[in-house]
Amino acid sequence: MHHPTQQRYNSMLALMASAEVDGNSAPGRAATRLQAELSERKIDLVTTVSSSDACVILSTNPAIQCLLINWALPGDGECPVLEVLEQLRTRNQKMPVFLLADQQTVSTMPRRALELANDFIWMLEDTPTFIGGRIQGAIERYRHTVLPPMFRALTHFARVHEYSWHTPGHTGGTAFLKSPAGRAFYDFFGENMLRSDLSVSVTELGSLLDHTGPIAKGEQYAAKVFGADRTYYVTNGSSTSNRVILMASVTRGQLALCDRNCHKSVEHAITMSGAVPTYLVPLRNHYGLIGPVPPQQLTASAIDKAIQQNPLTRDAKSSRAVHAVITNSTYDGLCYNVRRVEELLGESVDRLHFDEAWYSYARFNPIYHDRFAMYDSDKPTAKTGPSKFATQSTHKLLAALSQASMIHIRDGRKPIEHGRFNEAFMMHASTSPLYSIMASNDVSAAMMDGPGGRTLTGESIAEAVAFRQVLARLRQEYRDKEEWFFDGWQPDHVSDPDNGHNYAFHSAPADLLCREPKCWLLNPHDAWHGFGDLEPGYCMLDPIKVSITTPGIERNGQLADWGIPASIVSKYLDNLDIIVEKTTDFTILFLFSIGITKGKWGTLVNALLAFKRDYDANRSLSQCLPNLLKKQPRYGDIGIKDLADRMFTTMTKLGSTAQLSAGFSALPHADCSPVQAYEALVRGDVEMLPLNQLAGRTAATGVVPYPPGIPLLMPGENFGQADSPALSYLKALESFDREFPEFAHDNHGVEVRDGHYRIYVLRGDLP
Ligand SMILES: *Cc1c(COP(=O)(O)O)cnc(C)c1O
Repeated sequence: MHHPTQQRYNSMLALMASAEVDGNSAPGRAATRLQAELSERKIDLVTTVSSSDACVILSTNPAIQCLLINWALPGDGECPVLEVLEQLRTRNQKMPVFLLADQQTVSTMPRRALELANDFIWMLEDTPTFIGGRIQGAIERYRHTVLPPMFRALTHFARVHEYSWHTPGHTGGTAFLKSPAGRAFYDFFGENMLRSDLSVSVTELGSLLDHTGPIAKGEQYAAKVFGADRTYYVTNGSSTSNRVILMASVTRGQLALCDRNCHKSVEHAITMSGAVPTYLVPLRNHYGLIGPVPPQQLTASAIDKAIQQNPLTRDAKSSRAVHAVITNSTYDGLCYNVRRVEELLGESVDRLHFDEAWYSYARFNPIYHDRFAMYDSDKPTAKTGPSKFATQSTHKLLAALSQASMIHIRDGRKPIEHGRFNEAFMMHASTSPLYSIMASNDVSAAMMDGPGGRTLTGESIAEAVAFRQVLARLRQEYRDKEEWFFDGWQPDHVSDPDNGHNYAFHSAPADLLCREPKCWLLNPHDAWHGFGDLEPGYCMLDPIKVSITTPGIERNGQLADWGIPASIVSKYLDNLDIIVEKTTDFTILFLFSIGITKGKWGTLVNALLAFKRDYDANRSLSQCLPNLLKKQPRYGDIGIKDLADRMFTTMTKLGSTAQLSAGFSALPHADCSPVQAYEALVRGDVEMLPLNQLAGRTAATGVVPYPPGIPLLMPGENFGQADSPALSYLKALESFDREFPEFAHDNHGVEVRDGHYRIYVLRGDLP
């Protein structure tokens, strides 16, 4: 059977960089003969005659598996070949490189060239068959080394299950071929995706549940790359990773410290484990962006006090917390100094759990030094320090399939050894995990291994910095003309610690911004961040998480006299097929992941400029937001500025931005623990009520407005009085949504009926 996709996967590609790739000279004829030989061996050859072109090809085509480079290759600079090799090695240390030379030149070649290349080819002396064989051998060895263990085993396991009697029932895809819809599915996803969809009864790949065979080798490899003692591949997202860790660490009635800025899955994990949560409340700024939990809240005495003030801890078995969960980095890209967090929290708790769902790349760039859970992995684990857990959604910011996630563990005090941990792991795992998800975890580790991680993260940072600087420069130019423009959320000024030079952000050397963490620190009382008196060095803004801000709010938190709600800008961008990560009242978040292509942000800058033109000219919705007008004709064909004004006036009237900050700053009173509330929900001891009947009632589910998906109320918490911060905020959201349904908020735990919010509360006596 002929497998076109399989063949494409197996094809080999080499680059030959030489001025003499054809023609009538002896070396040219030798090159032509070699090309014919390679073609016999199914090795395709790309050729180039210049060193600069070779650099471009090598950096843009990772399919190339071998470089043949003529020592006499012309180019700029003193030693063009050496430059090509140096550049290649910054991103790829393993690709085989053959130097084409004659034996005399070798004696004069710089040592560095010999170090960077692997071997020589004497084009005129050796036979094409001999040279071709060596090249083929090198490519095959290389391919073996670039593939991480689990993925490598999967690709070798290319057997077609023609006589298989086990699941999956599509048997390598053949079942799909029996119907037109199936055939379309098969053609769309391709044969390899289906042939590699295996059952756990295929023993050659080992088992995810037992952590054996190539799967275990993959996990061990990832542990090495990500700096953990142990790594677990998870195929159901970090949602599951968080649940596995909590279930392995905390039991019913035990105390857990929990960042209030936690993901829904942590809320679920707390509910399932029966833990009694005590919250660590993060800061909020004037934009409503969530800041870090300040260090003052993490000291032993502050933790004691928080536990004591928590009405739920009277039922707890001990007043010492067994586990703490911190979100690092935050959605908006604020990263903690983990060394400092560990020092503080480590006094109160033996197990620290960092939710790094958005942050799996941190270890690979020195700008994040000390700011991720496994920061100290170059040293042997201190058994006296807390045990550490990190969950990472490899699919979010590295290259992996959706649901690919990893748990990394460093064992310190009160470790949970593998045997015990794996019980929780298996409880949450499917017995039919998708092998391609595991393989993508494996591949994302391989991509970050060696110089690749540094290069790939460096490229994202460089693109993000370039975008931020262009935006800041445009903003300055417009400001000089007393006109508005978008702004980036970042320091106004940065200084170079080496020479003390101070720069406006847009005029700082890009190289300084790309390498110097000090440029991104949230220094105490800096107005731009709005988090007040933060400890120096405690918190840093991640350059690749770019929030742009729209006019409408002052740095003191007052609403301005005019403004542009960010959601209208997001709708405008959406109309141009630019989809943003997150929109709040006056901010829009863009992620510069490693998938970024060079200059992709240029389109975004153009779109923002186009928005400004359309807004300033108050162009009609039929022209700039036709889809919106079609769906919501009630707006009428007004101008885009008119719509923005209308929305801004409503936001001013409702005070929603300030309500948001208030709603999330004060902790509601907890009437019962999340698991008690959940049990009442399951028993049906709940009723669903509109907002005006919620005063004094206890939420049965979490109430989680999106974005950013942080619980306003946890299950078991009280809504407070009719004018409580939580209820006031929900009422503001409800009124806004009724007026602007196309811009309506998405709130988990809230059902909307005829424009009214309704929420489950506990009925009758509290448990
Ligand atoms: C997305 C997210 C998760 C869940 O990750 P999935 O891989 O989508 O299941 C957990 N924590 C945080 C902070 C997240 O943002």
